[in-house]
Amino acid sequence: MQFRDLKKQYEVLKDEMDKAVLDVAGSGKYINGPWVKELETELAEYVGVKHCISCANGTDALYIAMMAWDIKEGDAVFVPDFTFFSSGEVVSHAGGTPIFVDVDRKTYNIDPSSLVDAIEKVISDGKLEPKVIVSVDLFGLPANYDELQKIADKYGLKILEDGAQGFGGEINGRKACSFGDIGTTSFFPAKPLGCYGDGGAIFTDDDELAMKMQSIKVHGKGKMKYDNVRIGLNSRLDSIQAAILQVKFKAFKEYEVADVNKAAKKYDELIKEKLGDKIIIPFIPKGYLSSWAQYTIQLKDKDTRDSLQSALKEEGIPSMVYYPKPMHNQEAFEIKGEYEFNTEGTDALCDTVLSLPIHPYITEDDINTVVSAIEKNLK
Ligand SMILES: *Cc1c(COP(=O)(O)O)cnc(C)c1O
Repeated sequence: MQFRDLKKQYEVLKDEMDKAVLDVAGSGKYINGPWVKELETELAEYVGVKHCISCANGTDALYIAMMAWDIKEGDAVFVPDFTFFSSGEVVSHAGGTPIFVDVDRKTYNIDPSSLVDAIEKVISDGKLEPKVIVSVDLFGLPANYDELQKIADKYGLKILEDGAQGFGGEINGRKACSFGDIGTTSFFPAKPLGCYGDGGAIFTDDDELAMKMQSIKVHGKGKMKYDNVRIGLNSRLDSIQAAILQVKFKAFKEYEVADVNKAAKKYDELIKEKLGDKIIIPFIPKGYLSSWAQYTIQLKDKDTRDSLQSALKEEGIPSMVYYPKPMHNQEAFEIKGEYEFNTEGTDALCDTVLSLPIHPYITEDDINTVVSAIEKNLK
Protein backbone atom coordinates (compact mmCIF):
# COMPACT_ATOMS: atom_id res chain seq x y z
CA MET A 1 0.00 0.00 0.00
CA GLN A 2 1.21 3.51 -0.83
CA PHE A 3 0.81 6.50 1.49
CA ARG A 4 -0.08 8.69 -1.47
CA ASP A 5 -0.23 6.68 -4.70
CA LEU A 6 1.11 9.00 -7.41
CA LYS A 7 1.96 6.13 -9.73
CA LYS A 8 -1.65 5.02 -9.77
CA GLN A 9 -2.68 8.57 -10.65
CA TYR A 10 -0.18 8.53 -13.50
CA GLU A 11 -1.59 5.25 -14.84
CA VAL A 12 -5.06 6.81 -14.96
CA LEU A 13 -3.84 10.00 -16.67
CA LYS A 14 -1.10 8.33 -18.75
CA ASP A 15 -2.32 9.07 -22.29
CA GLU A 16 -2.93 12.74 -21.67
CA MET A 17 0.14 13.09 -19.50
CA ASP A 18 2.55 11.52 -21.98
CA LYS A 19 1.20 13.74 -24.73
CA ALA A 20 1.55 16.88 -22.59
CA VAL A 21 5.14 16.11 -21.63
CA LEU A 22 6.14 15.26 -25.21
CA ASP A 23 4.42 18.39 -26.53
CA VAL A 24 6.66 20.52 -24.33
CA ALA A 25 9.74 18.48 -25.28
CA GLY A 26 8.98 19.04 -28.96
CA SER A 27 8.17 22.72 -28.60
CA GLY A 28 11.57 24.07 -27.60
CA LYS A 29 9.72 26.47 -25.25
CA TYR A 30 11.04 25.10 -21.97
CA ILE A 31 10.93 28.36 -20.03
CA ASN A 32 7.83 30.57 -20.09
CA GLY A 33 6.08 28.45 -22.70
CA PRO A 34 2.36 29.06 -23.28
CA TRP A 35 1.44 26.37 -20.71
CA VAL A 36 2.59 28.60 -17.85
CA LYS A 37 0.30 31.53 -18.67
CA GLU A 38 -2.61 29.19 -19.48
CA LEU A 39 -2.22 27.44 -16.13
CA GLU A 40 -2.03 30.74 -14.24
CA THR A 41 -5.27 31.87 -15.86
CA GLU A 42 -7.02 28.57 -15.00
CA LEU A 43 -5.79 28.64 -11.39
CA ALA A 44 -6.80 32.28 -10.80
CA GLU A 45 -10.25 31.58 -12.18
CA TYR A 46 -10.70 28.49 -9.98
CA VAL A 47 -9.50 30.22 -6.80
CA GLY A 48 -11.57 33.29 -7.65
CA VAL A 49 -8.86 35.96 -7.51
CA LYS A 50 -7.54 38.38 -10.11
CA HIS A 51 -3.90 37.33 -10.17
CA CYS A 52 -2.03 34.03 -10.10
CA ILE A 53 1.75 34.19 -10.27
CA SER A 54 3.47 30.83 -10.65
CA CYS A 55 6.91 30.31 -9.14
CA ALA A 56 9.53 27.65 -8.40
CA ASN A 57 8.11 26.16 -5.17
CA GLY A 58 5.82 26.82 -2.22
CA THR A 59 8.61 28.17 -0.03
CA ASP A 60 9.57 30.77 -2.64
CA ALA A 61 5.90 31.71 -2.93
CA LEU A 62 5.84 32.55 0.80
CA TYR A 63 9.20 34.28 0.63
CA ILE A 64 8.16 36.43 -2.34
CA ALA A 65 5.16 37.58 -0.27
CA MET A 66 7.51 38.48 2.62
CA MET A 67 9.67 40.46 0.16
CA ALA A 68 6.67 42.21 -1.40
CA TRP A 69 5.58 43.41 2.06
CA ASP A 70 9.17 44.36 2.87
CA ILE A 71 9.32 42.26 6.05
CA LYS A 72 12.58 43.04 7.82
CA GLU A 73 14.37 43.18 11.16
CA GLY A 74 12.06 44.40 13.90
CA ASP A 75 8.92 42.96 12.30
CA ALA A 76 6.85 40.30 14.05
CA VAL A 77 5.12 37.65 11.94
CA PHE A 78 2.70 35.25 13.63
CA VAL A 79 3.00 31.63 12.53
CA PRO A 80 1.28 28.48 13.82
CA ASP A 81 3.52 26.37 16.07
CA PHE A 82 2.26 23.22 14.34
CA THR A 83 3.18 23.38 10.64
CA PHE A 84 5.87 22.57 8.09
CA PHE A 85 9.16 24.43 8.64
CA SER A 86 8.80 26.72 5.58
CA SER A 87 5.93 28.70 7.13
CA GLY A 88 8.35 30.16 9.68
CA GLU A 89 11.63 29.81 7.78
CA VAL A 90 10.68 32.48 5.25
CA VAL A 91 10.08 35.01 8.05
CA SER A 92 13.58 34.54 9.46
CA HIS A 93 15.02 34.54 5.95
CA ALA A 94 13.49 37.97 5.36
CA GLY A 95 14.98 39.21 8.66
CA GLY A 96 11.73 39.27 10.63
CA THR A 97 10.92 37.42 13.85
CA PRO A 98 8.49 34.50 13.68
CA ILE A 99 6.24 34.35 16.73
CA PHE A 100 4.85 30.85 17.14
CA VAL A 101 1.21 30.58 18.12
CA ASP A 102 -0.56 27.53 19.53
CA VAL A 103 -3.09 25.67 17.41
CA ASP A 104 -6.61 24.38 17.94
CA ARG A 105 -6.45 20.69 18.84
CA LYS A 106 -9.55 19.89 16.84
CA THR A 107 -8.82 21.64 13.54
CA TYR A 108 -4.99 21.63 13.78
CA ASN A 109 -5.05 25.26 12.62
CA ILE A 110 -3.94 28.48 14.36
CA ASP A 111 -5.96 29.20 17.50
CA PRO A 112 -7.50 32.70 17.32
CA SER A 113 -7.42 33.37 21.08
CA SER A 114 -3.76 32.32 21.35
CA LEU A 115 -3.08 34.60 18.40
CA VAL A 116 -4.62 37.57 20.20
CA ASP A 117 -2.52 36.80 23.31
CA ALA A 118 0.65 36.71 21.19
CA ILE A 119 -0.15 39.98 19.41
CA GLU A 120 -0.94 41.72 22.70
CA LYS A 121 2.31 40.49 24.22
CA VAL A 122 4.38 41.75 21.29
CA ILE A 123 2.65 45.12 21.43
CA SER A 124 3.11 45.51 25.19
CA ASP A 125 6.80 44.54 24.91
CA GLY A 126 7.27 47.23 22.31
CA LYS A 127 10.38 45.68 20.72
CA LEU A 128 8.82 44.32 17.57
CA GLU A 129 6.17 45.65 15.24
CA PRO A 130 3.34 43.19 14.43
CA LYS A 131 2.95 42.93 10.65
CA VAL A 132 1.62 39.66 9.25
CA ILE A 133 -0.32 36.55 10.25
CA VAL A 134 0.72 33.42 8.36
CA SER A 135 -2.43 31.33 8.45
CA VAL A 136 -1.69 27.79 7.39
CA ASP A 137 -4.48 25.62 5.94
CA LEU A 138 -3.06 22.48 7.53
CA PHE A 139 -3.78 18.99 6.16
CA GLY A 140 -6.21 20.47 3.59
CA LEU A 141 -8.54 22.36 5.95
CA PRO A 142 -8.82 26.15 5.61
CA ALA A 143 -8.00 28.10 8.79
CA ASN A 144 -10.70 29.99 10.72
CA TYR A 145 -10.78 33.07 8.46
CA ASP A 146 -13.88 34.63 10.05
CA GLU A 147 -11.97 35.07 13.28
CA LEU A 148 -8.56 35.70 11.71
CA GLN A 149 -9.88 38.51 9.51
CA LYS A 150 -11.43 40.24 12.54
CA ILE A 151 -8.10 40.04 14.37
CA ALA A 152 -6.15 41.25 11.33
CA ASP A 153 -8.52 44.21 10.92
CA LYS A 154 -8.38 45.11 14.60
CA TYR A 155 -4.57 45.17 14.76
CA GLY A 156 -3.90 46.35 11.19
CA LEU A 157 -2.15 43.13 10.10
CA LYS A 158 -1.92 41.38 6.73
CA ILE A 159 -2.88 37.75 6.27
CA LEU A 160 -0.60 35.46 4.30
CA GLU A 161 -2.54 32.28 3.59
CA ASP A 162 -0.10 29.37 3.34
CA GLY A 163 -2.29 27.07 1.26
CA ALA A 164 0.49 24.60 0.37
CA GLN A 165 -1.67 21.82 1.79
CA GLY A 166 -5.00 23.55 1.43
CA PHE A 167 -5.46 24.03 -2.31
CA GLY A 168 -8.96 22.84 -3.25
CA GLY A 169 -10.40 23.42 0.23
CA GLU A 170 -13.40 25.71 0.76
CA ILE A 171 -15.38 27.71 3.30
CA ASN A 172 -19.03 28.09 2.26
CA GLY A 173 -18.09 27.65 -1.38
CA ARG A 174 -15.22 30.12 -1.32
CA LYS A 175 -11.92 28.56 -2.32
CA ALA A 176 -8.72 28.27 -0.30
CA CYS A 177 -5.89 30.59 -1.36
CA SER A 178 -8.42 33.42 -1.73
CA PHE A 179 -8.71 34.22 2.01
CA GLY A 180 -5.40 35.95 2.60
CA ASP A 181 -4.30 39.36 1.30
CA ILE A 182 -1.86 37.02 -0.42
CA GLY A 183 -2.41 33.26 -0.74
CA THR A 184 0.23 30.75 -1.75
CA THR A 185 0.39 27.09 -2.65
CA SER A 186 2.93 24.38 -3.44
CA PHE A 187 2.93 21.86 -6.29
CA PHE A 188 5.35 19.47 -4.56
CA PRO A 189 4.25 16.03 -5.85
CA ALA A 190 2.53 14.89 -2.65
CA LYS A 191 0.42 18.05 -2.14
CA PRO A 192 -3.28 18.01 -3.08
CA LEU A 193 -2.38 19.41 -6.52
CA GLY A 194 1.18 18.35 -7.31
CA CYS A 195 3.47 18.31 -10.34
CA TYR A 196 6.42 16.00 -11.13
CA GLY A 197 9.04 18.11 -9.38
CA ASP A 198 8.89 21.47 -7.64
CA GLY A 199 6.46 24.29 -8.28
CA GLY A 200 4.39 26.91 -6.51
CA ALA A 201 1.92 29.74 -7.01
CA ILE A 202 0.88 33.03 -5.44
CA PHE A 203 -2.64 34.49 -5.48
CA THR A 204 -3.87 38.02 -4.86
CA ASP A 205 -6.55 40.52 -5.86
CA ASP A 206 -4.18 43.45 -5.37
CA ASP A 207 -2.89 44.77 -8.75
CA GLU A 208 0.07 46.62 -7.30
CA LEU A 209 1.25 43.71 -5.14
CA ALA A 210 0.83 41.36 -8.11
CA MET A 211 3.07 43.55 -10.26
CA LYS A 212 5.67 43.74 -7.51
CA MET A 213 5.70 39.98 -6.96
CA GLN A 214 5.89 39.37 -10.72
CA SER A 215 8.98 41.58 -10.71
CA ILE A 216 10.54 39.92 -7.62
CA LYS A 217 10.30 36.44 -9.16
CA VAL A 218 12.20 37.61 -12.28
CA HIS A 219 15.32 39.21 -10.76
CA GLY A 220 13.44 42.36 -9.76
CA LYS A 221 12.73 43.24 -13.37
CA GLY A 222 11.34 46.63 -14.36
CA LYS A 223 9.66 47.22 -17.68
CA MET A 224 11.72 44.51 -19.27
CA LYS A 225 13.96 41.67 -18.20
CA TYR A 226 17.26 43.57 -18.48
CA ASP A 227 16.03 46.57 -16.53
CA ASN A 228 16.34 45.66 -12.84
CA VAL A 229 14.60 47.89 -10.33
CA ARG A 230 14.93 45.81 -7.16
CA ILE A 231 16.79 42.79 -5.84
CA GLY A 232 14.74 39.72 -6.67
CA LEU A 233 14.97 35.99 -7.23
CA ASN A 234 14.99 33.53 -10.08
CA SER A 235 11.80 31.65 -9.29
CA ARG A 236 10.04 30.13 -12.29
CA LEU A 237 7.61 27.30 -12.85
CA ASP A 238 8.97 25.27 -15.79
CA SER A 239 6.85 24.78 -18.92
CA ILE A 240 6.96 21.02 -18.44
CA GLN A 241 5.60 21.27 -14.88
CA ALA A 242 2.89 23.67 -16.04
CA ALA A 243 1.82 21.23 -18.77
CA ILE A 244 1.76 18.36 -16.23
CA LEU A 245 -0.30 20.53 -13.87
CA GLN A 246 -2.83 21.33 -16.60
CA VAL A 247 -3.54 17.62 -17.00
CA LYS A 248 -3.70 17.01 -13.24
CA PHE A 249 -5.78 20.12 -12.58
CA LYS A 250 -8.53 18.86 -14.87
CA ALA A 251 -8.74 15.59 -12.92
CA PHE A 252 -8.48 17.53 -9.65
CA LYS A 253 -11.52 19.65 -10.52
CA GLU A 254 -13.53 16.88 -12.19
CA TYR A 255 -13.26 14.14 -9.56
CA GLU A 256 -10.17 14.07 -7.35
CA VAL A 257 -11.40 16.49 -4.67
CA ALA A 258 -14.75 14.67 -4.56
CA ASP A 259 -13.11 11.23 -4.44
CA VAL A 260 -10.65 12.07 -1.70
CA ASN A 261 -13.59 13.40 0.32
CA LYS A 262 -15.38 10.08 -0.20
CA ALA A 263 -12.28 8.29 1.09
CA ALA A 264 -12.17 10.50 4.19
CA LYS A 265 -15.85 9.85 4.83
CA LYS A 266 -15.27 6.11 4.57
CA TYR A 267 -12.45 6.36 7.13
CA ASP A 268 -14.71 8.41 9.45
CA GLU A 269 -17.52 5.87 9.27
CA LEU A 270 -15.35 2.78 9.71
CA ILE A 271 -13.37 4.26 12.57
CA LYS A 272 -16.51 5.37 14.39
CA GLU A 273 -18.06 1.95 13.90
CA LYS A 274 -15.05 -0.14 14.87
CA LEU A 275 -13.08 2.03 17.27
CA GLY A 276 -15.66 4.34 18.81
CA ASP A 277 -13.89 7.01 20.80
CA LYS A 278 -10.53 5.22 21.06
CA ILE A 279 -9.14 7.55 18.46
CA ILE A 280 -10.01 11.10 17.48
CA ILE A 281 -10.86 11.58 13.82
CA PRO A 282 -10.31 14.83 11.88
CA PHE A 283 -12.83 17.58 12.62
CA ILE A 284 -14.29 19.55 9.70
CA PRO A 285 -16.31 22.59 10.87
CA LYS A 286 -19.73 23.22 9.31
CA GLY A 287 -19.49 24.87 5.88
CA TYR A 288 -15.83 23.84 5.45
CA LEU A 289 -14.43 21.49 2.82
CA SER A 290 -11.01 19.86 3.17
CA SER A 291 -8.85 18.81 0.24
CA TRP A 292 -7.31 16.14 2.51
CA ALA A 293 -3.59 16.65 2.08
CA GLN A 294 -3.56 14.34 5.11
CA TYR A 295 -6.05 12.26 7.07
CA THR A 296 -4.70 12.73 10.58
CA ILE A 297 -5.99 10.93 13.65
CA GLN A 298 -5.06 11.41 17.32
CA LEU A 299 -4.21 8.57 19.69
CA LYS A 300 -4.43 8.72 23.47
CA ASP A 301 -0.70 9.19 24.12
CA LYS A 302 2.75 8.96 22.56
CA ASP A 303 3.37 5.30 23.45
CA THR A 304 0.08 4.25 21.90
CA ARG A 305 0.83 6.29 18.76
CA ASP A 306 4.38 5.03 18.38
CA SER A 307 3.53 1.39 18.91
CA LEU A 308 0.57 1.61 16.53
CA GLN A 309 2.80 3.13 13.87
CA SER A 310 5.34 0.27 14.21
CA ALA A 311 2.60 -2.34 14.15
CA LEU A 312 1.11 -0.83 10.98
CA LYS A 313 4.53 -0.77 9.38
CA GLU A 314 4.95 -4.49 10.04
CA GLU A 315 1.73 -5.10 8.15
CA GLY A 316 2.96 -3.05 5.19
CA ILE A 317 0.78 -0.02 6.00
CA PRO A 318 2.63 3.29 5.73
CA SER A 319 1.78 6.14 8.10
CA MET A 320 3.49 9.41 8.95
CA VAL A 321 3.90 11.69 11.97
CA TYR A 322 3.16 15.22 10.77
CA TYR A 323 4.70 16.86 12.78
CA PRO A 324 6.89 15.36 15.50
CA LYS A 325 8.36 18.68 16.68
CA PRO A 326 6.76 22.07 17.40
CA MET A 327 8.22 25.03 15.51
CA HIS A 328 9.20 26.71 18.79
CA ASN A 329 11.53 23.77 19.52
CA GLN A 330 13.32 23.86 16.16
CA GLU A 331 16.97 24.56 16.76
CA ALA A 332 17.12 26.89 13.74
CA PHE A 333 14.98 29.53 15.44
CA GLU A 334 16.84 31.50 18.07
CA ILE A 335 13.94 33.09 19.85
CA LYS A 336 13.60 30.68 22.72
CA GLY A 337 12.00 31.90 25.90
CA GLU A 338 11.14 35.47 25.19
CA TYR A 339 8.16 34.92 22.93
CA GLU A 340 7.06 31.51 24.10
CA PHE A 341 3.49 31.18 25.12
CA ASN A 342 1.22 28.37 26.06
CA THR A 343 2.08 25.62 23.56
CA GLU A 344 -0.09 22.94 25.12
CA GLY A 345 -2.12 22.17 22.00
CA THR A 346 0.88 21.79 19.74
CA ASP A 347 2.91 19.79 22.27
CA ALA A 348 0.04 17.34 22.70
CA LEU A 349 -0.49 16.99 18.95
CA CYS A 350 3.17 16.30 18.23
CA ASP A 351 2.94 13.32 20.60
CA THR A 352 -0.39 11.89 19.48
CA VAL A 353 -1.01 12.52 15.75
CA LEU A 354 -0.73 9.91 13.02
CA SER A 355 -1.49 10.47 9.34
CA LEU A 356 -2.97 7.50 7.46
CA PRO A 357 -2.76 6.69 3.74
CA ILE A 358 -5.18 8.83 1.74
CA HIS A 359 -5.46 10.01 -1.86
CA PRO A 360 -8.18 10.17 -4.52
CA TYR A 361 -7.31 6.71 -5.88
CA ILE A 362 -7.34 4.75 -2.61
CA THR A 363 -9.81 1.83 -2.63
CA GLU A 364 -12.41 0.95 0.00
CA ASP A 365 -10.52 -2.31 0.47
CA ASP A 366 -7.38 -0.42 1.40
CA ILE A 367 -9.27 1.74 3.88
CA ASN A 368 -10.80 -1.42 5.37
CA THR A 369 -7.36 -2.96 5.69
CA VAL A 370 -5.96 0.12 7.47
CA VAL A 371 -8.84 0.39 9.93
CA SER A 372 -8.86 -3.36 10.66
CA ALA A 373 -5.13 -3.23 11.36
CA ILE A 374 -5.64 -0.31 13.76
CA GLU A 375 -8.49 -2.16 15.46
CA LYS A 376 -6.39 -5.29 15.89
CA ASN A 377 -3.40 -3.41 17.28
CA LEU A 378 -5.24 -1.15 19.69
CA LYS A 379 -6.71 -4.12 21.52
C1 LIG B 1 5.04 21.87 1.54
C2 LIG B 1 4.77 23.07 2.34
C3 LIG B 1 5.43 24.30 2.09
C4 LIG B 1 6.57 24.42 1.12
O1 LIG B 1 6.34 24.02 -0.18
P1 LIG B 1 7.59 23.59 -1.11
O2 LIG B 1 6.98 23.58 -2.47
O3 LIG B 1 8.04 22.25 -0.65
O4 LIG B 1 8.64 24.63 -0.97
C5 LIG B 1 5.07 25.40 2.83
N1 LIG B 1 4.12 25.34 3.78
C6 LIG B 1 3.48 24.18 4.08
C7 LIG B 1 2.43 24.18 5.14
C8 LIG B 1 3.79 23.01 3.38
O5 LIG B 1 3.16 21.88 3.68
